[in-house]
Amino acid sequence: MDALGIRRRLLFEKAADSNLTAKEQPAMKKDLLKLIDKLEQTHSLTLEEYESLIDGYTPQAARCLAQKASALRQSIYGNTVYIRGLIEISNICKNDCYYCGIRKSNSSCRRYRLTLEDILDCCGQGYALGFRTFVLQGGEDGFFTDEILERLLSAIKNKFPDCAVTLSLGERTRESYQRLFDAGADRYLLRHETADPIHYGSLHPRELSYENRIACLKQLKEIGYQTGCGFMVGSPGQTARHLAEDLKLIETFRPHMCGIGPFIPHQATVYGDHPPGTAELTCYLLSVIRLILPSVLLPATTALGTIDPRGREKGILSGANVVMPNLSPISVRKKYELYDNKICTGDEAAECLQCLKKRMASIGYQIVIDRGDYASL
Ligand code: SF4
Repeated sequence: MDALGIRRRLLFEKAADSNLTAKEQPAMKKDLLKLIDKLEQTHSLTLEEYESLIDGYTPQAARCLAQKASALRQSIYGNTVYIRGLIEISNICKNDCYYCGIRKSNSSCRRYRLTLEDILDCCGQGYALGFRTFVLQGGEDGFFTDEILERLLSAIKNKFPDCAVTLSLGERTRESYQRLFDAGADRYLLRHETADPIHYGSLHPRELSYENRIACLKQLKEIGYQTGCGFMVGSPGQTARHLAEDLKLIETFRPHMCGIGPFIPHQATVYGDHPPGTAELTCYLLSVIRLILPSVLLPATTALGTIDPRGREKGILSGANVVMPNLSPISVRKKYELYDNKICTGDEAAECLQCLKKRMASIGYQIVIDRGDYASL
């Protein structure tokens, strides 16, 4: 079934399910229950089994998975939620990914690049608010050479020695990754976007290849970064089989972090008219990923909060344990628009954090002051 079919069924079943009392709800199919039990016990399924699990989505199965995923997360991380201060350092990018709002051919995008002083200011404000991880994210902007990033990393590490720095700056050479690691970067996020090479080719221009993306991820892990991959849920052309391939990649690659969020179209892209992914399927997959990798650092993403006003709370209740408030200067927030209608573009960092603290408290979770490293069991 393709992502559109899954989406329609989700909406239909959600409506049908909410009209039934608990007694009236049909028993979950035995086969599906067996798969969920197997996943809980072995943290592994075959590709076909992952596909059946995705195709077999029902709200009941989602609740069952979320309960198991939450219990597992609770046993490792308690009711704590880690925060990451996101600093969007540049929206200039040499690439032209077909789904991305800051792709180079989007001439309506107003470009910006933060200075080193701007970035250090953002870190200072974040530190005062309790952030102990800074995520430097940006397009593939040639300005940020290894030398410049080395200078930036050593300045951050000198000023905030108890903080972790995560980079999310796309594909670079192995030498570059090594230099940045040696300069103090702790973690690197590089979404693989889809584990199917043909699907990858339909989302990216020819210059970008699935093989290189995976090679980069392997290099990052070998160098010693806490490494994160991830994908969009409901991206154009995505099928249950593709999602199964994503889950199998996560099971075998074993990232320390995994960022997944619903696909949300941006009007100035090739896929501007494509319908978005759903919060329901994203949460379902968050639970599955928690059961595959019990210790994984799993964010309830801003995209999830954009597609559903309570998306981040639902993500945490499905097994996620990280949120990423924005520390970028308000003057540039709207310009870093990877997709349409992104939330939290007008709030001060302190307001964002307060809002998230309240949201987490409303579901019994607590944001903590902590680097929030990967818990190796
Ligand atoms: S997805 Fe990343 S690499 Fe691709 S165009 Fe957007 S910012 Fe650039």
